[in-house]
Amino acid sequence: MEITYPFAKVFADNTNRLNVFFLHDTEHSTFQQIGEIGGGIVDFCELDFSAVREKVKALETMTVTNADFEDVKAGFYEAVDLLKDKHPYVHFFLNSEVVRTLWVSEKSIGEQIDYLQFLFHYCFDLQIQYSEALEFCLNTQMLTEYTLSERYVMFCNLHPDFPKHMLRSMYGIAPMAHGRFDTSKLIQFDNPGEVDAKAVLQNIHRDSDYSVSLWQYFAIQHLEEMLHLEFMEMIKRGIRIKRCTLCDRYFVLADKRKRDYCDRIYKGKRTCKQLGAKQKFHESVSDDIYLVQFQTIYNRMYSRYYRMDAWDSDKPTNKITEEEFKAWIADASNARQEYRQGTICGEDFLVRISKNIDR
Ligand SMILES: [Zn+2]
Repeated sequence: MEITYPFAKVFADNTNRLNVFFLHDTEHSTFQQIGEIGGGIVDFCELDFSAVREKVKALETMTVTNADFEDVKAGFYEAVDLLKDKHPYVHFFLNSEVVRTLWVSEKSIGEQIDYLQFLFHYCFDLQIQYSEALEFCLNTQMLTEYTLSERYVMFCNLHPDFPKHMLRSMYGIAPMAHGRFDTSKLIQFDNPGEVDAKAVLQNIHRDSDYSVSLWQYFAIQHLEEMLHLEFMEMIKRGIRIKRCTLCDRYFVLADKRKRDYCDRIYKGKRTCKQLGAKQKFHESVSDDIYLVQFQTIYNRMYSRYYRMDAWDSDKPTNKITEEEFKAWIADASNARQEYRQGTICGEDFLVRISKNIDR
């Protein structure tokens, strides 16, 4: 399928960053290094879409005649603009799609609106899918008895369409030296006619180990492609995630150091990490018998929901339904938060999470 503007060229190198050229149109592009790899997905999963949801819902009820199509258009742009500067790439890809749909579309007005409604709902669904993928494949607190490869293969078995994703890859000359993208050699220009192509190529070639410094990059047009690329790079590199002991949100474990807290601002000006170092939470999970119990029960519920007790066998399973599982997770997560904040004691916490787990 043809690539149309706007789109992004993404170069992965041997650092934990993605080198991204956002091509807005034929003449305008911006360069950004996104990293650590995994941060984009984690932030997407933690992104608060509630205002966007409300806006899109309100647009659903607007009746469309040619007369107020302009209002509906404006409404979709407002919806997508709510995400501006909230995430390294979500706004770019969603906005691109809105632009493509409303500007150069051969679709009828009704089809354009239906498509944009679909687009936003699809984005909300992606958040659910990737939260599950992160939890299942990469959360260090989960499914600890399985290797990453096993977890990835089990995940693909549960979601047979997932590994069928295709990404478009192309070749381009890029300033890479020793496997790293050299940002000092990037050229910024206002007028392409003024660029000295010979000097640029010589400069790129200077410390390249290759005859021509050709690199494969991904041409990414849709949000789901970008999420897929970043997720696969996480899996490939074994980049793990964890839930912050204080705020309970995911964060990326960038290196092998043991970390329990994220770098987000908690209350006031302090980050979870700064607060965590001071408060009683500093005891790690393994020191707290109730949290250890929680993890054991959590893993058991997970296994039952995904029927991992029945992999490669015909034995009857103790499966729970998706509704049961989600209801349990929601209540258990609240209980854990309350326990951590000291609102309930350890025994009450155990009673809460042990409810309805055996049948
Ligand atoms: Zn946190």
